[in-house]
Amino acid sequence: MKKFIAMALVAVFSLPIFADEINVYSARKEALIKPALDSFTQATGIKVKLITGNADALISRMKSEGQFSPADVLITTDVGRLERAKLLGLTQAYDSELANSVVPAHLRDENNQWLALTLRARPIMYAADRVNPSELSTMMNLTDSKWKSRICIRSSNNIYNQSMTAAMLAIYPKSDVEEWARGMVANFARPPKGGDRDQIKAVAAGQCDLAIANTYYLAGMLDSQDAEQVKAAEKVKVFWPDQQASGTHINISGAAIAKHAKNVNNANALIEFMLTQKSQQWYAQVNHEYPVRDGVELSQTLTEMGQFKKQKVKLSDVGANNDEALKLMDKAGWR
Ligand code: FE
Repeated sequence: MKKFIAMALVAVFSLPIFADEINVYSARKEALIKPALDSFTQATGIKVKLITGNADALISRMKSEGQFSPADVLITTDVGRLERAKLLGLTQAYDSELANSVVPAHLRDENNQWLALTLRARPIMYAADRVNPSELSTMMNLTDSKWKSRICIRSSNNIYNQSMTAAMLAIYPKSDVEEWARGMVANFARPPKGGDRDQIKAVAAGQCDLAIANTYYLAGMLDSQDAEQVKAAEKVKVFWPDQQASGTHINISGAAIAKHAKNVNNANALIEFMLTQKSQQWYAQVNHEYPVRDGVELSQTLTEMGQFKKQKVKLSDVGANNDEALKLMDKAGWR
């Protein structure tokens, strides 16, 4: 009996104190992240527990779980949400020389509270049969009266538009951005409704001539199994605005290490894994996003959309300007 107890004690105490696992809270759909996490497990032996959900819901969950939160890493899209997690005190600094050498400084928090993993571009899209791209130039110029009743864009409660406007606030005087928002509203073809994909479809259907949308939606439609979607997407082309100025607006998908992470080393290892050439290529290609580091191949569909000058606004400023952007759009009547 004594021997049995001794053996049982040995068994209990020889369990690893730090389990080789990591808990990932992801606002990305499972199909867009799971294969990368599986490769991580294969390469490192670290098991990944993946919890997916809506970004705001995951952030609230981390907040209410507090120090008992199992979350080690938060993966989400849009810097506005990463910045929100940071401001709520839900993050801690990652510790990675690789991250700080391959991710440009404007695409990560200056105190390492979050970093970009992929980039997403938000250009102008136009009806190929009704708009001559030589008529287009900058985002600011979309307020020209020639675009009256011709622009489709989603609501101001959408974070992509909030971040786009927040980035403008980092470039232009506030009064100019206010004037822009009013001018945009004056040129709307219809009250904002639906998602980015719906704006592209509305251009294809002739309800508007211009849309603002993230490129991966158009790319996803072009690569769709659904012939209707492909047919619609082929009527719509990308115009890269602001190429002579600050560049086209970009946002990110990114990651942050959770404040109460129990597996900090594994969390840093995952971040570094996501930044390898191979992961970058997979991660960017599967959702038609742009890799965060140089020298990584794009998907064929993105390559065909052409190269462009990217906005270089510090994304932490974009996050910080979010509330002001939303108020400004509201005031302009952008519902
Ligand atoms: Fe999206």
